[in-house]
Amino acid sequence: MSENLNMNVPVVATRGVIVFPEQEIMIEVGRGKSIHAIDEAEQYFNGHVVLVSQKDILIDDPHKDELYTVGTLVHIKSVKRKQGFLRVTFSGLQRVRIEQLVDDGKMLFGTITLLEDVIGTEDEELALIRRISSEFEKIASTNIAIPQEIINQLTQGISAPQLSDQFAQYFPLQLERKQSLLEELNVNERLLMIIEEIQREQTLAMIENTINEKVKDRVEENQREYYLREKMRAIREELGDVQDIGEDTDEFRKLLSENPYPDHVREKAEEELRRYEMLPQASGESGVVRTYLDWLLKTPWYQQTEDIEDLNAVRQKLDEDHFGLDKVKDRIMEYLAVKQMTGNLDAPILALVGPPGVGKTSLATSIASALNRKFVKASLGGVRDEAEIRGHRRTYLGSMPGRIIQGMKKAGVVNPVFLLDEIDKMASDYKGDPTSAMLEVLDPEQNKLFSDNYLEEPYDLSQVMFVATGNYLGDIPEALRDRLEIINLSSYTEEEKLNIAKRHLIPKQIKANGLKKSQFKISDANLRYLIRHYTREAGVRQLERTISSLARKTVLAVLKDGKESVTINKEIITEWLGQVIFEYGQKEKRDQVGVVTGLAFTQFGGDVLPIEVTTFEGKGRLIVTGQLGDVMKESAEIAFGYVKSHAKEFKITPDFFEKHDVQVHVPEGAVPKDGPSAGVTFTTALISALTNRKVAADIAMTGEITLRGNVLPIGGLKEKSLAAHRVGIKRIVIPKMNEKDLVDVPEVVRESVNFIPVETIDQVLKEALVQ
Ligand code: ADP
Repeated sequence: MSENLNMNVPVVATRGVIVFPEQEIMIEVGRGKSIHAIDEAEQYFNGHVVLVSQKDILIDDPHKDELYTVGTLVHIKSVKRKQGFLRVTFSGLQRVRIEQLVDDGKMLFGTITLLEDVIGTEDEELALIRRISSEFEKIASTNIAIPQEIINQLTQGISAPQLSDQFAQYFPLQLERKQSLLEELNVNERLLMIIEEIQREQTLAMIENTINEKVKDRVEENQREYYLREKMRAIREELGDVQDIGEDTDEFRKLLSENPYPDHVREKAEEELRRYEMLPQASGESGVVRTYLDWLLKTPWYQQTEDIEDLNAVRQKLDEDHFGLDKVKDRIMEYLAVKQMTGNLDAPILALVGPPGVGKTSLATSIASALNRKFVKASLGGVRDEAEIRGHRRTYLGSMPGRIIQGMKKAGVVNPVFLLDEIDKMASDYKGDPTSAMLEVLDPEQNKLFSDNYLEEPYDLSQVMFVATGNYLGDIPEALRDRLEIINLSSYTEEEKLNIAKRHLIPKQIKANGLKKSQFKISDANLRYLIRHYTREAGVRQLERTISSLARKTVLAVLKDGKESVTINKEIITEWLGQVIFEYGQKEKRDQVGVVTGLAFTQFGGDVLPIEVTTFEGKGRLIVTGQLGDVMKESAEIAFGYVKSHAKEFKITPDFFEKHDVQVHVPEGAVPKDGPSAGVTFTTALISALTNRKVAADIAMTGEITLRGNVLPIGGLKEKSLAAHRVGIKRIVIPKMNEKDLVDVPEVVRESVNFIPVETIDQVLKEALVQ
């Protein structure tokens, strides 16, 4: 950590309260030193202060050694002065290490350094988050109390660092565990720790269940259930325990009397309620019935919000929240207009399809808030079991409703905007196909009487406005695709990213970090530098993270140097974010033998895909390594076959293949959608390596070849060209048959990239090989 970020701030010791970044918490501050620190912070430090917990919460005036060394830099949002204490609301900014702590008798002062999150690989992160959501959903209906805040947040789509911090903030954990979640900087590591915590809770709950089951079995075994129950009732009465069950039933009765329910639900509830009152409270079955009643009565049956019908206001909201995306917004408006005209019947479901970070989720939340509807989200990624959509039967131990009903309960109304995230990542296996259940959900003919296995009573989903999102159209099951009105969102150009950052991301981060607008300045040129050298993505997620990191450091710099504002320039960027992560442009790159830049279409949008070929002594085998699917491998084999059979034309020595093996390697992490489009790339790399001729570094290519050397068309030209443009490539070889698709490519790209349409591999070689 760089020198100049060491700084002094007032420190408040807490009794076991830990605040995590981006979390808000209210604390009552009573100790003299802490009150002083708060006053000082408000007066001289822009409201910034560090909170750190003491190890033993019973000590009144902790010595330095009795405090942890990692705490949180927080911003004071509000202070209410009460008699003898302050009620302070803090919002967490960033983890810090306290290097030195001074106690001047009046208050604590610390010299701190900022600690940065370490972000792991995106794939791992996705997998971990998915796992956490499913763990949550698994235990949501058991007795484990997951705070509502976490559930709400999970359903609204948050980033991994936020998720882990939110969890750490609200899940009841012992102090040491909480502190270790604060001290762990690696986000994926934190996510893992969370999974462990949830599983611990699950294990405990299971043990409890088993004990309950045993108790019950024994009672049955002795066939004295009735007698015992009566006896227990008497004992409970003695102990005043009856109260408990009374409270539950009171709550259920209150729900029943205060809310409208369909008759069939009311009857069912009353029947279950009678059963519940009869069951011994300690029995496992009692818990099962209580959970069921809770679901049945707290799922909304009639409650709804009033829609705002003014479509102009909706458009205005969409425009306020999002830069550009005009076509997408137009389509959304058309969709909403038609829906309004025709009522809800038979309108297809809106599906936003595109790479990550291009604003799909945030458009959906905008739609919800513009229409004044509640917003909920269920992730379908990795769902492979119909029961996850439709729930398990009640007889099944630990059963609960499926994700749809879970979402409805969270929404609390019958007409939310319901985001079905990652609809392209559903899988089917032996446990049954979730697609058919989803079809029922999305079909207006059938979803009036949606059946959930757990709930048992038919549920009306017809007022819900479903919005689906996915990364890749081709992966959405065919039958579902028919029900969807697909709206494509594509990668952003650099220009668009620049505007999004200026108008949305920067103001958002300034606000979130308690800065004033004038305190954080960055020129367009430097913003572009950030985009080019610190991000490489289709959307703007990484960019948002980067800006957020700069904003947090600005807070500190303002505090430390007492500066009025910080103007972000290249030196500051290097100092705060480290050396550039991505090279831009091909200037630095040399022409090389056997290395060709291919273009791929991945679930994260387009990407450049370098391919390398080397040869060494051997017997003419082709070895393919790296991240390739079967289709890509086959494509490499076709290329190899082609080169072998035309060896003479390329002036490759006749016995070359008898004495050499050839290795084709795809080094980069991008995993292409398994479509064939790398044929020309493989062939060019092979010929370059085998004839020892260099390939021009400024060229990229895409196209499939036949065994005769003809170039066949490919998909995803727009995304691929955006990716090439992103890294500063100037020439792209494309199949002649794709020339017509160039109209879809944004103008900025067409202006700066030279597209070279070709029909045969010879033309490709002529362009790519350096003479
Ligand atoms: P997705 O759901 O497509 O993966 P998100 O909706 O999570 O992407 O978007 C990531 C972030 O980028 C959000 O903070 C979102 O508000 C912001 N964002 C994306 N596109 C735009 C845009 N066109 N205008 C303003 N902000 C945007």
